[in-house]
Amino acid sequence: MANIVVIGAGVVGLTTALALEQNGHDVVILTKDAGDSIVSFVAGAVWYPFKVGPVDKVPAWAAATRTWMLELARTTPQAGIDLLTRFELANDDTRPWWASATPDLELVRALHGQPLPKGATHAWKFAAPRAEPQLFMAWLAAKLRARVRVQTVTSLRETLAAEHADALVNCTGLAARALTDDRELVGVYGQVVITEPGSLALNECLGDERDEREMFYTIPRRSEVVLGGCAEPSPDDRPTVTTPEMTQTILRRAAQLGLQPGRVIRERAGLRPFRPSVRLEHDREEPRIVHNYGHGGAGYTLCWGCAQEVVRLLKLAR
Ligand SMILES: Cc1cc2nc3c(=O)[nH]c(=O)nc-3n(C[C@H](O)[C@H](O)[C@H](O)COP(=O)(O)OP(=O)(O)OC[C@H]3O[C@@H](n4cnc5c(N)ncnc54)[C@H](O)[C@@H]3O)c2cc1C
Repeated sequence: MANIVVIGAGVVGLTTALALEQNGHDVVILTKDAGDSIVSFVAGAVWYPFKVGPVDKVPAWAAATRTWMLELARTTPQAGIDLLTRFELANDDTRPWWASATPDLELVRALHGQPLPKGATHAWKFAAPRAEPQLFMAWLAAKLRARVRVQTVTSLRETLAAEHADALVNCTGLAARALTDDRELVGVYGQVVITEPGSLALNECLGDERDEREMFYTIPRRSEVVLGGCAEPSPDDRPTVTTPEMTQTILRRAAQLGLQPGRVIRERAGLRPFRPSVRLEHDREEPRIVHNYGHGGAGYTLCWGCAQEVVRLLKLAR
């Protein structure tokens, strides 16, 4: 058993802490932010590998997370995870790069007996677990024995020493850029509009990422629907405010697909911590530090697979 400090209480930090505890470690979590201002609370939070790499590792992490989420959806309603059917529009029958993570992937040419919308010739159909961030994050926090301390970390090495810890895991998302001087990490702005369901089914989601400039998705929750979105590379300090123009764009794209969502309840925006490859490795100078950040638009999709990898890395190092 080791004493481990996890920096960050987003979806990546909390799931990493849980996996470490399940493997017998003692964990303390330090977080700069308390409350729901962080990007983990902005996410639509459906399982889908979007804006993330590398292609040779993501499918295995995503598959492990999907299996875990499917099990939670079946057994643990209080975790806030439900099973949706996702339809992802496509222009041809080329299998998606993450296909090995979804053995149930099926190619369809119609949606409920109707032609596919917006000129799509094909769609990929698969089971997609979705988390309700408010419920899932609260469930994770309640499951942990770890204390969560609100504290801003300015040096990973000094924190490792000050906490007298055996290891430290850096799960600070986009803030890792300042802490590690990582120039590969960039913010990718996204906005969502949350509406009443209107005529939208609560067990199905639709995605269209064929052209990122025109991207659109619906992600139903238990009593509301998340509509998105956009993906704009942005400076780290771009304010995460919503714009009425993007709200109108998202609602127009829904209408173009023949969808009739209900009243707008609220809007949210955030910066996805994007890196060409998730950074999941020992620090090159201080091997007691493990980095786990840069999950882009797929923090929920990869969290459990990456948490298991952190456990493995720390085991190998001992
Ligand atoms: C519009 C939108 C929609 C999305 N939809 C999905 C989706 O459907 N599915 C999906 O899988 N993903 C989705 N994502 C992506 C997902 O939100 C992120 O990948 C994920 O939340 C990243 O989690 P994280 O824990 O790494 O970062 P964060 O949630 O940012 O957490 C970082 C933590 O580190 C702490 N921290 C930072 N700096 C310090 C410091 N110096 N000292 C101490 N603590 C610090 C913060 O306080 C926070 O607790 C979406 C993102 C956006 C913007």
